[in-house]
Amino acid sequence: RDKMPSPPTGRENRQRIQQQIARLRIVVLGAEGVGKSALTVRYLTRRYISEYRRAIDLLYRHTVCLDDVTSEVEILDVSTREHQENESVSVSHIRWGEGFVVVYSVNDATSFQEAAVILDHLQRLKAPLYVPVILLANKRDLDPGRQVSVEDGQALSLQHGCQFYEVSAAESHVGVTLAFQALLRETRSLQLTRPL
Ligand code: GDP
Repeated sequence: RDKMPSPPTGRENRQRIQQQIARLRIVVLGAEGVGKSALTVRYLTRRYISEYRRAIDLLYRHTVCLDDVTSEVEILDVSTREHQENESVSVSHIRWGEGFVVVYSVNDATSFQEAAVILDHLQRLKAPLYVPVILLANKRDLDPGRQVSVEDGQALSLQHGCQFYEVSAAESHVGVTLAFQALLRETRSLQLTRPL
């Protein structure tokens, strides 16, 4: 985990963007079982994989063309199982990432509290830099068992100045794709404003 390549410098990123190829490093965080893998796979393949057992972090690479700009995207799907003994968020993941997806499940109030802790941790570690983050409330198809209201999710996102989406990896790829694309756009435009 600590041997991850260092993030590209501002100059490298600017050169890549000028060549119309951005490189974006995204990290997906959240409590165990909230659907991090289901969401990541849904975004990358448009398919829903309901059982996706894995006990290691997975790094996906894909090339995406968004608003006529090609980006090489790396998405790190963090295994909560691997980090159970430690802090819920590893410092090296946060240092590595440029944009973050923080996930909780609408039918799990504890995962919402964990998302709040992760958001605090993220902002503290990245300070004074602004960090592009989207807060994803997953499993909205499980509305009868809902423990976290839309308003609570919105309030948390306002508190942290991040975008908020309620989605269901199980039901549809549309909301998931829109949410990831919003994060990619924000991460990419922020790279342009970083000092060389
Ligand atoms: P992770 O531990 O955060 O990576 O969670 P997983 O992606 O492994 O998902 C945990 C469980 O939640 C699996 O059984 C998934 O099928 C289920 N799951 C994931 N997303 C949804 C969703 O949107 N709706 C429902 N009903 N179940 C989901």
